[in-house]
Amino acid sequence: MRAMRKGIGVSPGVAVGTAYCIHEVFVRPQTRPLEAAEVAGELRRFEKAVKKSLADLRALAQKVASQVGKEPAAVFRAHQAILRDPAFTTKMRQAIETQRQPAEAALHDVLAEYTAIFDRTHDEYLKQRLADVRDVILRLSEHLSPMLANDPAADSDRLIVVAQELLPSQVVALGGKRLAGIVTQSGGATSHAAILARGQGIPAVSGVRDILRQVTNGDLVVVDGSSGYVVVNPDPETESAYRKLQREYFQLQDVLAENRDAPARLADGEAIELLANINGLTDAQAATAVGAAGVGLFRTEYLFLTHPDVPDEEEQLAAYREILATCPQRRITIRTLDLGGDKTIPYLGRQREANPFMGWRSIRLSFEHPEFFLTQVRAILRAGGEEHAEVRMLFPMITTLEEMRRVRSMVNRARKRLQAEGKPVGPVPLGLMVEVPAAAVCIDALLSVVDFVSIGSNDLVQYLMAADRDNPKVSHLCQPLSPAVLRVLRRVIESCHKAGKPVTLCGEMAGLPRAFALLVGMGLRSMSMSPALLPGIKELASHLTAEQTRKMLRRAMKLKTTEQVLTYLRDEVDRLAPNLKLLDSM
Ligand code: PEP
Ligand code: MG
Repeated sequence: MRAMRKGIGVSPGVAVGTAYCIHEVFVRPQTRPLEAAEVAGELRRFEKAVKKSLADLRALAQKVASQVGKEPAAVFRAHQAILRDPAFTTKMRQAIETQRQPAEAALHDVLAEYTAIFDRTHDEYLKQRLADVRDVILRLSEHLSPMLANDPAADSDRLIVVAQELLPSQVVALGGKRLAGIVTQSGGATSHAAILARGQGIPAVSGVRDILRQVTNGDLVVVDGSSGYVVVNPDPETESAYRKLQREYFQLQDVLAENRDAPARLADGEAIELLANINGLTDAQAATAVGAAGVGLFRTEYLFLTHPDVPDEEEQLAAYREILATCPQRRITIRTLDLGGDKTIPYLGRQREANPFMGWRSIRLSFEHPEFFLTQVRAILRAGGEEHAEVRMLFPMITTLEEMRRVRSMVNRARKRLQAEGKPVGPVPLGLMVEVPAAAVCIDALLSVVDFVSIGSNDLVQYLMAADRDNPKVSHLCQPLSPAVLRVLRRVIESCHKAGKPVTLCGEMAGLPRAFALLVGMGLRSMSMSPALLPGIKELASHLTAEQTRKMLRRAMKLKTTEQVLTYLRDEVDRLAPNLKLLDSM
């Protein structure tokens, strides 16, 4: 049945492909009851998944105990205890044997039962244990049905993944497969899954409610990441219209690829520094392939999220060296671990917080695990000691001057200790991410203790507008071109210029044509973005003069609503660079 749905376009481009639905354990899979003859096999499948999960957890507990400490390792022992708990295994066996449920459906129901029980308690500690149960159940379900592995539906080479939400670790796990497009029920334009999709140039649409009920494996699906439309089983005319758009999009990419070695310049010749945001080695290769001037943001979370346990100093150093050797001009800004919010690793302790994005995340978490944090700082300082490398270190979520001072003195101590150990370290300038409004407001004071600034507009926008960046219900508020955001950005950029401190912007807005034009108008000359967006921005830059962008900024600053700003800029950018319409996903 044909269906057309609207979501939020989070990664531009058009893809036509075959649906592959990921029914996570948190969304009850549509399954038929088991035949009597299938029950014994299903029980064996469940036991096997339990054994594999226990083996994972034992290994994790051991490594975490030796590298982070006994206390953080306790969480994995607690997870083993849940898996061995007869109350849990009996429930599962009963669901399979008596109710003839497949293991995945049984897991879902057992989780629902636990959730209902935990919801009734007012004890915060107990409530937090639900996160552990969910974690254990997710691990089990991964062993029951490893994503895409051995699945005939996953054979198509133009696969459109349809899911409730894609966790960052899942996008990484899917990385080996050639994905054509992504559609998710939740998530917003700056959710990390969206950022990963953009990094790989995969068209994606988020926030399409109930899409999993309308799509089944094998359906033909169109994803238009520019307009936010998803079409399921299009009629032949619609299909051919979208296939044409897809071809045009590919052609545009080919044309842009030819500019790879051309310097990034405005139409009047002024140079612009276009850097790449990366999550790992593949992105570093992509950054070089698109001709980035360096890496402006290396999000190190994925190094930790995809590591089987905890990467120690030598492992981290090896990873940084490998990436450094691959990234353009051997220039890289490495951001220290930014966990929390939608990215967690269990060994650092997981709290059930009412407001995780405003809670115990990022640098706050690093302060609480100083040894763990210092291991990363040491590895980054040592990477800076590599020949011909230009390594900078960036700290996320800094809110106050005291925090930045504390970071500086920790880094200084680490540097001295490395020198005493005779290990080569590099100069490694220290930078502040401006992503909390408090830091933006007090930027002048903070500038005295940093070497450079990188504006993290994804978080800055969500905190300024008090609108969760992952929640499609408030995405209309999470707008980087809203008058409030523009005022704050302009002020931060001006303050950095006055203080003579280098400033760049590494949030997703740098790669959006309309936002880019205004940032240039504010005097920003360095931006970092997903590699896939860089060629389009380089082309756009060559259509704009500094004077034109200043004029656009003056006009835009007089407008009172986001809608007015968006409409005005769309018309201007379309007029100045009509060939780039397909790249706009705002
Ligand atoms: C940001 O907040 O703008 C940013 C670049 O960091 P992240 O998207 O990883 O939170
Ligand atoms: Mg951020």
